Amino acid sequence: MDSVAAPLFSEITRLPWSMPQYSVGHLDQLKRVRYEMKVWYPGVFLCGARYEGIVISDCVRLGKEAAGQLDGELASRQ
Ligand SMILES: Cc1cc2nc3c(=O)[nH]c(=O)nc-3n(C[C@H](O)[C@H](O)[C@H](O)COP(=O)(O)OP(=O)(O)OC[C@H]3O[C@@H](n4cnc5c(N)ncnc54)[C@H](O)[C@@H]3O)c2cc1C
Repeated sequence: MDSVAAPLFSEITRLPWSMPQYSVGHLDQLKRVRYEMKVWYPGVFLCGARYEGIVISDCVRLGKEAAGQLDGELASRQ
């Protein structure tokens, strides 16, 4: 476009804390948490943006992995 007109208005919306910010050591910590979950809460699996990626495709992948793990867990109990 070749427009030179100034915008009539603009708006900035800040969303603080809207995205997980992984700290250094996050993956090691996650490994420990998953181990503890397995010991103390078998059958409960973690998924979502705060664990291994914030984009929707990561969340869908993690959700599918968690569903697969749950499936395996339930099958092992039969
Ligand atoms: C402004 C913004 C723009 C984004 N744009 C993009 C984009 O363009 N592309 C992209 O790939 N990603 C984008 N993201 C990132 C992506 O949308 C998120 O990382 C992803 O949706 C997070 O999925 P989630 O399942 O972890 O959490 P959420 O989608 O937040 O789902 C969590 C659900 O749990 C529910 N919940 C919370 N507490 C409880 C409770 N105690 N009991 C029952 N239910 C509860 C909530 O109501 C919610 O429905 C954007 C994120 C933001 C904030």
